[in-house]
Formats: sequence, C-alpha cells, structure tokens
Amino acid sequence: MNVPQMNERHSFCDRKETCSPSRKPKPPKPQNAITIAVSSRALFSMDQEQEIYEQQGMEDYLSYQIKHETQPFAPGPAFPFIKAVEVVNARLRELYPDSEELFDVVLMTSNHAHVGLRLINSINHHQLLIERFCMTGGNSPIGYLKAYHTNLYLSADSGKVREAIEEGIAAATVFSTGRVPEVPETQLRVAFDGDAVLFSDESERIYKAHGLDNFVPGGPLKCFLEALGKLQQKFYAKGQRLDCPIRTYLVTARSAASSGTRALKTLRSWGLETDEALFLAGAPKGPMLEKIRPHIFFDDQMFHVEGAAELGTVAAHVPYGIAQKIPAKTGKDTTKEMQAKQLE
Ligand SMILES: [Mg+2]
Repeated sequence: MNVPQMNERHSFCDRKETCSPSRKPKPPKPQNAITIAVSSRALFSMDQEQEIYEQQGMEDYLSYQIKHETQPFAPGPAFPFIKAVEVVNARLRELYPDSEELFDVVLMTSNHAHVGLRLINSINHHQLLIERFCMTGGNSPIGYLKAYHTNLYLSADSGKVREAIEEGIAAATVFSTGRVPEVPETQLRVAFDGDAVLFSDESERIYKAHGLDNFVPGGPLKCFLEALGKLQQKFYAKGQRLDCPIRTYLVTARSAASSGTRALKTLRSWGLETDEALFLAGAPKGPMLEKIRPHIFFDDQMFHVEGAAELGTVAAHVPYGIAQKIPAKTGKDTTKEMQAKQLE
C-alpha cells in the first residue's frame, strides 16, 4: 500500500497556518451547528489495519498502529465530503463572521487511545479542521451522537448505523472503494434517493392501502436535507443563490408520471426542496450520478449503492425500510459487516 509519509513541517503545532489562534476558527456550540459525526474508517482508509485486526487480533493491531503512528492514513470514503463541508464553512464564515450556524465535524471512533495519536497526526497532515474527538472505547456511539445533536452519522459499521437510525438519527454506512472520487472542490453536492431515504417507506404502504398522497412521513435522511436547506437559505439571503456552495439532488428510480407529483408536493409541504430532481423511471442511477459527481449519495438499496460505487460515486447505504428485508443482489459485504465485531 502506498502510504503517504508525514511531512515533518506539517506535524502538530509546527503547522502555523492552522495552529495560530488568529487563523483557527472556533468550533460552534453543538446546538447551533449542523453536526456531522464520522467514524475513523469512514474518514480514512484503514483497510490494511482492519485486516491485521481481523486476522491477528487486537494486540498486533495496536502495535502496528503505534509503529506507524507518524504515517498518516490515506483518505477514506467520507473524506471528500468532509473536505467539501469545510469549504462551505469558509464561505459561511465570510458572510456571517459571528454566526455559529456552521457545519461541525466530530470524529466518532471506537478505537483505542493509541490509535487516536495516529488519527490526530492524519487530521493535521490532511489539514482537516476537526476539533472534536469522541473515543468510545468500543461502546455504542448513540449516547454521544445525541449529546452532540448529531445531524448526520457516517460509519463503516452497518450495525452502529442501524442503531443510530432506530434512535432517529440520520445515518448511513460508507464503503471503502480504494479510489478517490473526482468531485467538485468549491461546491458540496449531496444526492438522495426518495423512498426510504427522504421519505418514509410507510408512505408507500399508506399510499397503496389508502391511496392517500397528502400525508407522507419523513424518512431517515429528511432532517439532513432540512439542515442543508437551512444553510442554503443563508446564501440565498445574501444574493448567492446561483453561487451557492451547497447543491442537493433527488435521484429516484421512480417515474415522474407515477410518483413525481407526490414526491415534489411532499417536499414542498415540508418546506423543503432539492435543487434538482431526477426521475429515472427504472434506468440505472450510476451513470446519472457519474455526471452529477456528488460528494455523497444516499440510498436504502444495496443494488443502487453498488451500481453507483462501480462508476466511482461515494454511495452510502441507509439501512432502513422494507428493502432491508429483501436480500440485496450481492449483499455479502453488509452481512459480513453486521456479523464482524467492528473497529472503526
Ligand atoms: Mg429507496
């Protein structure tokens, strides 16, 4: 594996550009911020380390991590998303220097404190502005996610993601692809599936049973779209609608004719919108997402997640709704994820 070497000049507080008190922005209070909690295996590529843990056990894993402490981890699947979030924050700080309505990123890891040092080194090396660390020592992250008023939790462990969703926290599983996607550097792009992601899967059942289309409950990611919308409004208020650094997409396999009206009316009834809405009428999502180049795409069906990932999109799985009861076409990875005791 080609691990980048730590540049000594950029380690810890030798890095004047982010360590100087005048340049380093103060993190917002959790109740004001849009908080993104990300696990270490979501943020960084730790496949090699995970393999050592699974095959050789905890002690070998820890000695390996300590031995490689000064070697930063390479970017993982959530890395481009977190970088883009920081770009949005920089724009918000320019427009609203005193506002705490910003993204805040928390590193939520079950790893041992020894690994924490390598994580801090990696964060500094990649010049990420992550101030909050939560090392749960293997315990469930749910209590911490709640304490931080988490608006989105990204993890490589589908068991923990499932637990978060059951507690009403927007969450998704991300998968290591071994390649860095090509994504825009100045605009955060987030794409959502409709059913069982933005909308509850109940909506489909209610619709089928009663033919109602005036009441659709929200899905697990609705609140995150809402949070993005809140930040978008701050740019619109300053006349920057056309130059907004956040862009959202609804990408659904449904057809516009059968369910487009219902989807769009539902979003409107919530006071929400996506910048673009794509009704693919059964066409594969991967090629469309390849054109959009989102930093992250959320879907409840592994079939769509895998199809998008094959064409280079960072696709995250939302383990929610009726689709989870149907085995995915190639669901082997998620099953393995669910069974293995995960470090993240
Ligand atoms: Mg769906």
